[in-house]
Amino acid sequence: MTEVDLIIKNGNQLLCPVEDINGNAKLEIFENGAVACNQGKIVGYGKTSEIVDQFFAKKIIDATGKVVAPGFVDPHTHPVFFGTRENEFEQRNAGKSYADIAKGGGGIRSSVRNLRKASKQQLIDFALPHLDRFMQYGTTTIEAKSGYGLSLEDEIKSLEVIRELNRIHAIDLIPTFLGAHEIPDEYRAKRKDYIQLIIKEMIPRVAERKLAEFCDIFCEDHVFNLDETETILGAAQEAGLKLKIHADQLTSSGGTELAAKMNAVSADHLDYISPKAIEQIKMSGTIPVLLPGAVFFLGLQRYAPARKLIDSGLSVALATDFNPGSCMTESIPLMMTLGCIYMKMTPAEVWLASTINAAKAISKEKQIGIIKRNTRADLVIWNIPNYKYLPYHFGVNLVDQVIKNGQVIG
Ligand SMILES: [Zn+2]
Repeated sequence: MTEVDLIIKNGNQLLCPVEDINGNAKLEIFENGAVACNQGKIVGYGKTSEIVDQFFAKKIIDATGKVVAPGFVDPHTHPVFFGTRENEFEQRNAGKSYADIAKGGGGIRSSVRNLRKASKQQLIDFALPHLDRFMQYGTTTIEAKSGYGLSLEDEIKSLEVIRELNRIHAIDLIPTFLGAHEIPDEYRAKRKDYIQLIIKEMIPRVAERKLAEFCDIFCEDHVFNLDETETILGAAQEAGLKLKIHADQLTSSGGTELAAKMNAVSADHLDYISPKAIEQIKMSGTIPVLLPGAVFFLGLQRYAPARKLIDSGLSVALATDFNPGSCMTESIPLMMTLGCIYMKMTPAEVWLASTINAAKAISKEKQIGIIKRNTRADLVIWNIPNYKYLPYHFGVNLVDQVIKNGQVIG
């Protein structure tokens, strides 16, 4: 018998996302399952009878009637901002379009003005309750983008805030530089200069200080066109950053094809992905990250073709796109419900999309989003009888307990 820090036992179902020999994810389920954790790592999992034969612990959690699963990985969030935009939400619902609001100085550009005025400490204080809420809803790792600074100083400030949040909060933040989120007001008449600023100053500084693991860009004809996207991402790749693209959100602009060509780790949104791009990202191994919350929250009709993507053998991930303008929620379970209803994903597929496939979208699939020996003990106990129940009982919080690095968090 080996002594360990923590055993969770008697789970009605223990959900283990695994890969088959073809690299396709599937959900392996242990009825009456248990997990043993030690020093922040998973050291055993399987049937309760087998685990309690091998391990003993002072701290034991009885998960009778509940589901035990890996903590969710949210591979696309914008959590560093200052001030919210509920007034725009009201205006949009009264008939104003997102484009009209943006033209009037609202949208991303209003978040930019607010972020620039805020101190690092104010940004940290503003983000912390949101990070708490991610964890309360079952998420233990988020990818976190800058992108509301849009100046050298303010992008660096945003990434430093992400680094500090990662240090002081239990949730893990994986940093992404998104200086190419929008053209800031002062560069509207000289966009080439802004692109030079990104390439010549921001990217080298971010890479040198290791402030980000990924570089992302909003590729859309009215923001950064295909040529500009290729130029910026080329510079990022040369500086050692991995790539992500906001692609084909509002039009089929070729962003996903470019993601494939440049071997981006993920291509995100994809509501207007072309059939050709589906084949191309299959070849490149780029993970499609779908954001149904943004479609829903903007009152749009066209969701990404998840069925086509999954049926052609791609590992589809889901994310919240948490941000103050186009998707104000930290809830992955809500994304799972939207995925089932509007994208016709199965309950098993939305679980895989929020765990193992989401970890792939941030190059962390060996450590998180799975339950295996020596992976991180990031686990959630759910007040649900089986995995199909979670997307079904929507709009409420069904988390029982969150375990982060082997520690029970409230
Ligand atoms: Zn986004």
